[in-house]
Amino acid sequence: MSCAIGVALPIPIDKVYAYELPEELEHSVGVGSLVLVPVRNRNYTGIVTEMNIQVREDMELRSVRAAVSGEPLLSSELLRLTRWISRYYVCAWGEALNAALPSGIQSKERVVYYLASESSHDWRNISPELQLHLIKHRSTTPARLKRFGLRISDQEIAKAESQGALQRTVELQDPTVATKTDKFLLIAPAFRSSAALIDVSTQVQGNKQKELIQELIRRIKSGEDDLSITDLKRSCNVSLSTIRSLEKRGLFSIVEKESFRIPEWMRSEKLPSSTPPEFHPFQSKAVDALCEAVNVKAFKTFALHGVTGSGKTEVYLAALETAFSLDQTAIVLVPEISLTPQTVRRFQERFGNSVAVLHSRMAKGERHDVWQLIRAGKYRVVIGPRSAVLAPLKNLGLIIVDEEHDGSYKQREKAPRYHARDVAVMRAKMNRCVCVLGSATPSLETLSNVQQNKYTLLSMPERVPVEGRTAAPLPAIRIIDLCYEREEHGLEGPMSTPLLEAIEQRLDRKEQVILLQNRRGYAPILECQNCGHVPQCIACSVSMTYHQIDRSQRCHYCGYQSAVVINCPKCGAPAFAPMGSGTQRVAEELGELFKSANILRMDHDSTRTKDAHHEILSVFGRGDADILIGTQMVAKGLDFERVTLVGVINCDLGLRLPDFRSEEGTFQLLMQVAGRAGRANLPGEVLLQTRRPAHPLFAFLKSHDFDGYARLLMTHRQKLNYPPFGRIVGIQIRGAPKPTVLELANQWKALLLNQLPSTVSVLGPEQPYVERVEHQFRNYLILKAPKSYTSLQDDIRTIQKISPSTGRDLHVSINVDGVEQE
Ligand code: ADP
Ligand code: ZN
Repeated sequence: MSCAIGVALPIPIDKVYAYELPEELEHSVGVGSLVLVPVRNRNYTGIVTEMNIQVREDMELRSVRAAVSGEPLLSSELLRLTRWISRYYVCAWGEALNAALPSGIQSKERVVYYLASESSHDWRNISPELQLHLIKHRSTTPARLKRFGLRISDQEIAKAESQGALQRTVELQDPTVATKTDKFLLIAPAFRSSAALIDVSTQVQGNKQKELIQELIRRIKSGEDDLSITDLKRSCNVSLSTIRSLEKRGLFSIVEKESFRIPEWMRSEKLPSSTPPEFHPFQSKAVDALCEAVNVKAFKTFALHGVTGSGKTEVYLAALETAFSLDQTAIVLVPEISLTPQTVRRFQERFGNSVAVLHSRMAKGERHDVWQLIRAGKYRVVIGPRSAVLAPLKNLGLIIVDEEHDGSYKQREKAPRYHARDVAVMRAKMNRCVCVLGSATPSLETLSNVQQNKYTLLSMPERVPVEGRTAAPLPAIRIIDLCYEREEHGLEGPMSTPLLEAIEQRLDRKEQVILLQNRRGYAPILECQNCGHVPQCIACSVSMTYHQIDRSQRCHYCGYQSAVVINCPKCGAPAFAPMGSGTQRVAEELGELFKSANILRMDHDSTRTKDAHHEILSVFGRGDADILIGTQMVAKGLDFERVTLVGVINCDLGLRLPDFRSEEGTFQLLMQVAGRAGRANLPGEVLLQTRRPAHPLFAFLKSHDFDGYARLLMTHRQKLNYPPFGRIVGIQIRGAPKPTVLELANQWKALLLNQLPSTVSVLGPEQPYVERVEHQFRNYLILKAPKSYTSLQDDIRTIQKISPSTGRDLHVSINVDGVEQE
């Protein structure tokens, strides 16, 4: 006897597959387990969604190959939530389930090309590039070819294979992260008291042995029962032979067990040190409302609208405390780039080591182990970026989404293209618990839900008073017209005279400056002054960005990098010059103008290494630097007392993006970065440079009137039927060659128009701003539907089923509530 089970696979086909479960696996596999299963001629790691399913008698079932996880990894609650995600965001359940697992836990297959022959006869018609690459590396993979910027088509690979030059194989890889084991001391029952250990300590000879016993006493006293040898060796510098000699005395035995890789900064052995402050009246009101709701244990969503510095974090901490007092757990979502050590520390200071952090800068092994410990119930709160909304906590009582308006909560690159804020609300609903959406500049979606009484609004319109003074006033905002500066004062560089003067003043007064330039690199592009040629990426239709540091040019889309050439490849003239200014160039110019100032740069490039982010902020926080210049990374969550000037080099960058949310996003970013100035005793000032000073956004910014601007944007959105008034779905068609992509886009358009009600409009096909990325052409359609049309996703799914098949070179991706554009 054997039974059939249902398995969801991480492939874009929305279907649960039936497999036979061999008898020997029956006891180790359950709903939520990972299993290795065959699909056509490949193997995939899937997740068991159902045991004992009904299948037709005559159906030939294939067998599960192996159990990848010994026990169920995902709870029924997460199964239900991911099922909802797959329905709402139109993707396969397996894809949504996959997003809930730590990466690297699955066994994966990959394609490998081996060099099969070096004889030149077999290498006819094969590009010298591929030949050299293979001869040098002996084997390669598609990912590797891409990393080397090699342009090799599938046809070319197939040809090389048929000529016997290379061999293509599909190989099963073991999971890239595995559990790690370590040796642990298991103290003998007779020695589990300090008295007994002190006794032995007087009998042993060596100082090292005494030292180790002291360490054991200390740990036993503090209730630590995990005594790993690696850890002991590190903390009291003893050798293995010292440990062995105490083992011989029968103090303990040495056992091998699983050990968890937890980052050092998460171990925080210090006891919580911060206590709640006395709340400001607005804070009190918010805290009372949240704590009451948490106590009631019913589903409720709050929009916490508090200006920067109004003390939102303290409100979160109070609500968390209430949840913990009821033995509930919680999730705190923060935008990826504001997940700084500064933020995490505030939670650790209150809740010690019951705080877990999950983020992408952690090593894979660490993320895996922390995830396993969360699942095992070792933590009460998980802090992380969007993916943390799927953290495997049990008994959830509270979900907090900080800076809920932030664009990084929407996953765009791959399915599931979910919005973590909306998933948070749904998860809270499924768990009958409280969800808090906090922001100084709430999204229009959230404001609209407040208006419809779906969410409860809590307002904190004032900054909290600091150290006996009245509340720090919001900073004064000045708009600097770059066109005027150029015409009247001959401005050439990126920084106007008023901005430079303001910086100089702060330097004289030993105050600090934050500058935002939302573009990394040195200058965006190199342009030939002779013929106007701008170097392009070989795989994407975008200009390369110039990086001064290593005189390289990089594609910010695919990462392709090449050295800068002296002579223009088009006209031959040695006339390349940098145009425009990125963070690097601004930093360099500042360095020349203010020779004695210490300048720090924070952007994607300067924070590549693991602790760079932390390093930069702590140097700035200590006051060891005067100016911090960076991309939007500097806009969020930073709280430094001595920052009195915030300058924005070019406000117009964000306004040019062809996305209906770009104005909203720019306003939010500018308001947020402005909030970094004058947070304590010193008054703050904000200088915004723009070529479009008449843009309505600036008048509202000047008067800190978020509500007014939000109302204006709402009327625009309503007129055009964009969210939150209508629904929107972006459909991206990508692949090669270009005419095929366009043809498929047109076929989709015809299908959509044909199958969907006439209230739905289909815009496009349109070429995106960047048409080609990694050799693939992109085209998109935008679907606008009335809000009342609730079966939209189901209908799109039906259309997906009858749409032309796509094959390996064409992809169609559905982006619910978003527009697929960069
Ligand atoms: P927000 O997250 O809204 O920007 P924070 O929670 O970071 O605000 O608070 C800003 C600063 O004010 C922090 O340094 C915080 O410790 C402090 N703070 C918050 N609430 C109070 C209070 N009630 N009394 C004194 N200080 C407070
Ligand atoms: Zn590229």
